[in-house]
Amino acid sequence: MTHDPTCIFCKIGQGQIPAKKVYEDDDLVAFHDISPKAPMHLLIVPKQHLVSLQQADESHQALLGKMLVLAPKLAAENGSPDGFRTIINTGRVGGQEVYHLHVHLLGGPSPVGRML
Ligand code: 5GP
Ligand code: ZN
Repeated sequence: MTHDPTCIFCKIGQGQIPAKKVYEDDDLVAFHDISPKAPMHLLIVPKQHLVSLQQADESHQALLGKMLVLAPKLAAENGSPDGFRTIINTGRVGGQEVYHLHVHLLGGPSPVGRML
């Protein structure tokens, strides 16, 4: 599995720096965003270093599916049983800040702010 030793989300995935983890398996880790934008704000992150959705190809299909299928389970377990928002920021135009693919999972007891 590929890692980037300078990447913050690789380090979290490998347990080298702490995070408030809510889920972990061989492929994925999910944890609370350090700067939450909603009552529930989790990040679903692959353990392998994949820079962004821009770099995804057919070899990542199962991984990407696993990330999305995890979302409703984590939302239900973390205080957002009535729906949630998922966001993937990609590249410069997408406003991505951390260049390791992640799905934002936002929710809570009431509707979260929306862009579109
Ligand atoms: P992006 O703009 O790349 O989609 O979002 C990156 C997210 O990662 C931001 O919401 C930011 O708050 C979060 N983040 C950045 N560094 C850390 C960190 O060290 N720990 C955690 N838990 N979240 C982080
Ligand atoms: Zn990484």
